Amino acid sequence: MKLKLHWQIFIAMGAGILFAVLFKEQVPWVSPLGAIFMRLLRMIVLPLVMTSIISGVAGIGDSKSLGRLGGKTFAYYIMTSMLAILVGLTLTNTIRPGAGIPSPQEAFSPADLDTSLPDILMRIIPINPFSSAAGGDVLSVIFFSIAFGFAITRLPKGPSETLQNFFKAAFEAMMALTGAIIKLAPIGVFGLLATAVSNMGFDLFQAVGKYMMVITLGLSIHFLIVLPTVFFILTRRNPLVHYQAMAAAMAFAFSSSSSAATLPLTMKSVEKNVGVSNKITSFVLPMGATVNMDGTALYEIAGVLFIAQALGIDLNFTQQLIIVVTALLASIGAAAVPSAGLVMIFIVLEAVNITTPEAYALVGVMLGVDRPLDMFRTVVNVTSDSIGAAVIAHSEGEELNYRQAEG
Ligand code: ASP
Repeated sequence: MKLKLHWQIFIAMGAGILFAVLFKEQVPWVSPLGAIFMRLLRMIVLPLVMTSIISGVAGIGDSKSLGRLGGKTFAYYIMTSMLAILVGLTLTNTIRPGAGIPSPQEAFSPADLDTSLPDILMRIIPINPFSSAAGGDVLSVIFFSIAFGFAITRLPKGPSETLQNFFKAAFEAMMALTGAIIKLAPIGVFGLLATAVSNMGFDLFQAVGKYMMVITLGLSIHFLIVLPTVFFILTRRNPLVHYQAMAAAMAFAFSSSSSAATLPLTMKSVEKNVGVSNKITSFVLPMGATVNMDGTALYEIAGVLFIAQALGIDLNFTQQLIIVVTALLASIGAAAVPSAGLVMIFIVLEAVNITTPEAYALVGVMLGVDRPLDMFRTVVNVTSDSIGAAVIAHSEGEELNYRQAEG
């Protein structure tokens, strides 16, 4: 039987560490394996994000009555993702999982970080979307893609369907390409780990353990406290009943690490066990699966702050705000497939100009331990989508009709 990818990655990690310990002098020979893998991942970010968002937003339907629903849905998505980001921000700044790794170089402060927030926000609107895309300015590309996706929903049926099919097909092709690249992860992780260990030593692992703990803690707080509270405040129902109704979808999200793969089950559970109308589930859930990723948002902010701490970069308030905004956009842009959140971390790093080889080596280490975190953040993503559907159905006057979960 073929070994599952995450086990392969795990073994490759071990092999990389061993290699660095036994053949320290030879590490430069295997470093390119990691560098090539990172380049491949970065190569896929822009087209993946673009097609993911355009096809996701364009698919939300064309009925005019969706306007109000759309507004509420977006408000919910953004509110819960921001709450998740705040949890991640607070925890990472208090626990400081990245502190204490001996930095291989002088701490540096990224050069053009001193721009103000209004500036950054303004720059999200591209003057020329093509040069933004060519220049790798993913935030502007996300902005343009959302706008373009909405425009497609406004077209008459014929052209709208043509464009939808085109971008859906392009998205599927990008997903296939991403899948193929991710398959190379064991080779890449081997090279990255060998490099990281030989540069940074074993203190790295203590820090990575702490990093995993911080993310797990953050996701647990969001999953067990924040989301149930939001649900209770907005529906006045017992959150436990909702969690019970969604248990099967959560379990599947955990094992598949993919909100997209879980979507059919999420929809079925929300319709059958929560009693939400098909009109609302088919609007809120498919878009939620691509756009609303609380777990991923929390992960992005915690991951980037961890890297900054590990490299000895002190981020001031404005810089942290930039990371907040970028983490939100990155979570919106992330595709609903395994490891997508990790790929997006490049965007957040780029936004604050942290693009040194050391930073990428850390991303490599994070990739090695990503699977369990990915499983958990996918559960959080799917749970938040389902709560969104219930909250919006309730606000539209629908009666939530909980039934014992049958799966
Ligand atoms: N795997 C996650 C999902 O599908 C995305 C991520 O990697 O954060 O929801």
